[in-house]
Amino acid sequence: NQPTILVTGGAGYIGSHAVLSLQQAGYEVLVLDNLVYGHRELVEDVLKAELIVGEIGDRLLLDQIFASRTIDAVMHFAAYAYVGESVKEPAKYYRNNVVGTLTLLEAMHAAGINKLVFSSTCATYGIPSVVPIPEDYPQNPINPYGATKLMIERVLKDFGVAYGLQSVIFRYFNAAGADPDGRLGEDHNPETHLIPLVLQTALGLRDAIQVFGTDYPTPDGTCIRDYIHVTDLASAHVLGLEYLLNGGGSNIFNLGNGSGFSVKEVIEAARQITGRDIPVKACDRRPGDPPALIGSADRARQILGWQPQYNRIDDIISHAWAWHLKRHGSTLVAS
Ligand code: UDP
Repeated sequence: NQPTILVTGGAGYIGSHAVLSLQQAGYEVLVLDNLVYGHRELVEDVLKAELIVGEIGDRLLLDQIFASRTIDAVMHFAAYAYVGESVKEPAKYYRNNVVGTLTLLEAMHAAGINKLVFSSTCATYGIPSVVPIPEDYPQNPINPYGATKLMIERVLKDFGVAYGLQSVIFRYFNAAGADPDGRLGEDHNPETHLIPLVLQTALGLRDAIQVFGTDYPTPDGTCIRDYIHVTDLASAHVLGLEYLLNGGGSNIFNLGNGSGFSVKEVIEAARQITGRDIPVKACDRRPGDPPALIGSADRARQILGWQPQYNRIDDIISHAWAWHLKRHGSTLVAS
């Protein structure tokens, strides 16, 4: 029998791609998602995985799930992840991301499940002054979203010492792209991320892409980010899981490409790939945006043997574009 993995947030963008990679690697998958931002049809129709609709903070539900079948490990993606919203509604973020996760961890402990793969973020580093950022760089998040993830990192450390919980923490840089075979993609509502917004502009769904800040201390004045293909993120999760199942101890890994692209470079690449006009509008800086965020993922390569397959920005954008064309229809704008 293949191990069974509970994937919280498996109806979301990164979670759904991880479910696909787990299935391809032969694992049984059970998805728990509250469907606030997730998509039922991705799980039920595309992935054909079992979906339980509910909250990670619902202890009764978790106890029922863990009593009804053997779960070998948990991959925990479920979280609210809008930085701006976290500033305006911190209670929502601390309640779900921190309290909800604590309940999940307590239920795991009670059920004797001691392996967890956790989604953390480069937002825990705050405004770093080095490029690329190593895992041992000090963490000083500048928004509640990053703070919730850092709090859980600390909880995982303490649960490891006290209860023997083995965890792999992944700190993602900028997840982007879509399943290369077009089955899954990015579908946030509201959408705030650069690449999908640029592609929506290419489709004519938006008048222009706003460029948040053109006076940063970078070569072209716009922010630099490390874009990592979501399928490469997903494959890292399978490797992290296998590392735990093979007895590996708790560990923390950055997941990025180690190279960065500016907002202007992303827009230019999208123009080339889509062949569409993409009008831009220069705007003020967005509060809380560091000028450059680039991660060193050497540790994931060395310890997990992770090898990203799609580290070209062109691959990331063209896979995202194929998804957008399928999702929104290719006939919206005459080519
Ligand atoms: N950005 C932008 N216009 C947009 C959305 C994002 O200029 O409409 C910039 C943003 O300021 C940042 C980069 O694009 O420098 C990536 O932003 P995104 O929200 O995709 O990811 P984040 O880095 O915030 O996780």
